[in-house]
Amino acid sequence: MKNEILEMEAILSEGKMSRRDAMKVFGLGGAGIMMGSGTVTQAVASSSAAKGKIVIVGGGLAGVATAALLMRSIDNADVTIIEPNPKSVSYQPGQTLVGSGVWKAEDLAYNTADFMPDGVKWIHEKAVEFNPEANTLKTDKGQLIKYDYLIVAAGLVLDFGAIKGLEEVGEVYSLDAADAARAKKILGKNGLCSIYFAEGAVDTWTEMQAFVAAAKSGKKVKALFPEPHTPFKCGGAQKKMVNLTNARLVEAGARANAEMAFVTNGKKLFGVKAYADSIAGQMKDRNVSTAFEHKLIAIDTAKKVATFEKHWEEKGAWDPLLEEYAMVEKKEVVEMPYDFCHLIPPQKAPKEIAKSPLGSEKGWVPVNKETMQHAKFPNVFALGDIVAVPLGKTGGSARKQYRVLVENLVATMEKKPLVAKYDGYTVCPLITDIGEVMLAEFKWDPKDDSKAVAAPSFPLDPAKPRWVYWFLKTRLLKPMTMYGMLAGRA
Ligand SMILES: Cc1cc2nc3c(=O)[nH]c(=O)nc-3n(C[C@H](O)[C@H](O)[C@H](O)COP(=O)(O)OP(=O)(O)OC[C@H]3O[C@@H](n4cnc5c(N)ncnc54)[C@H](O)[C@@H]3O)c2cc1C
Repeated sequence: MKNEILEMEAILSEGKMSRRDAMKVFGLGGAGIMMGSGTVTQAVASSSAAKGKIVIVGGGLAGVATAALLMRSIDNADVTIIEPNPKSVSYQPGQTLVGSGVWKAEDLAYNTADFMPDGVKWIHEKAVEFNPEANTLKTDKGQLIKYDYLIVAAGLVLDFGAIKGLEEVGEVYSLDAADAARAKKILGKNGLCSIYFAEGAVDTWTEMQAFVAAAKSGKKVKALFPEPHTPFKCGGAQKKMVNLTNARLVEAGARANAEMAFVTNGKKLFGVKAYADSIAGQMKDRNVSTAFEHKLIAIDTAKKVATFEKHWEEKGAWDPLLEEYAMVEKKEVVEMPYDFCHLIPPQKAPKEIAKSPLGSEKGWVPVNKETMQHAKFPNVFALGDIVAVPLGKTGGSARKQYRVLVENLVATMEKKPLVAKYDGYTVCPLITDIGEVMLAEFKWDPKDDSKAVAAPSFPLDPAKPRWVYWFLKTRLLKPMTMYGMLAGRA
């Protein structure tokens, strides 16, 4: 089956079958559009005569989709995007597939200019100073920009520099060429790699092939897959990398020579029990060890050793007044050697926003989690990876948030109540093998938003990996994102 899938991938990549025919063959037409469809209380605003200058900081996936829908929702809309990166809409979810040799880097790279909605003004600069009391911001080239309404969609930065040994890499945007050049001096060699930046994904495939070749030659090798201690985009990415590395080892007949370890700072494999149980079964079947409550603190790139702080709580003294035990935090340093380490770095909001009046103690932009309106400034909204809402930082979440945000922003401009509500929907197409995906869709538990519940769009067991979702992931989600969402239509 795997060979047939890879053959089909090659046929589709060479353009021998049209996307429309492929969708018909695989019976997937419309499936992507259906995803998450019943889960958000919203309706896209019909044409509005609302007036006001709208400025969007960040022209990545969330920013451009929002601009496109605003242009369709408001007559003669006055929308400006501030975005310094000419390739800001390149398709980040595909980096997992590039890192495992299924796709090529050129399958993901897109010019922002080709996706900028007609009529939107684009300032090719970075916003660096914010004064929301005066409704102004400043750019890195010194322009002072006034707005009536502000939308913050500036995504997040990869904080490699927070790991001892990687200080030189510093902070990296996933799609920034200059950041990538600096990161590549340390990452993408000696078995240490990360798909979290576009060029890093290419190097990950090179490192993975070297690792598989070493195992095939009879050498006993170790692979390490650590997750960070901060929130991070695409919560399923490390599990995907475990499964894809496993698939490549099996394909080479070299699996028996490799030890694989998934190491997380968290306490569980997934917030939804059915998905967590399914993943635990996959790890067990594939002989992948798991370690919880391990915070990655250092990497010795020369010796190929990752250092973790293992942390846990133990019962301390009995408190007779509270009638409970005091919990005592325990820590221990654990070193893990590796031949191949796929790294997901800690992540945070860009500092110029995190530390501005628009940020929060933790940096993420505080919003009403249902309406996407800023917690302090009613004419400011935010969405995407930068917002402080429970659960997902995914394109799937942004796909729901931008429609809610546009409806509520238009309502604000028209001085009407905000009625559209985001319900926490997010989706993780968790690749379990080459040719198989578990479509983990979930949203906030209505009784407790710190917890998640499954939110399947299809009448099938969502915890079961299926080949049909592989085609959804590899063939439908990219066109749906690039030509549907970025046009404000999906
Ligand atoms: C390896 C990987 C795998 C992923 N897999 C999936 C998946 O399977 N499914 C899924 O749904 N999602 C996935 N994602 C996540 C998805 O790509 C993000 O959630 C999505 O891109 C978020 O959109 P955004 O607009 O918030 O951020 P981005 O798309 O990152 O855009 C933010 C933009 O803001 C700009 N910016 C930053 N600071 C400033 C400033 N001060 N001034 C002006 N502009 C600024 C940046 O240049 C950037 O272009 C994955 C991501 C990665 C890295």
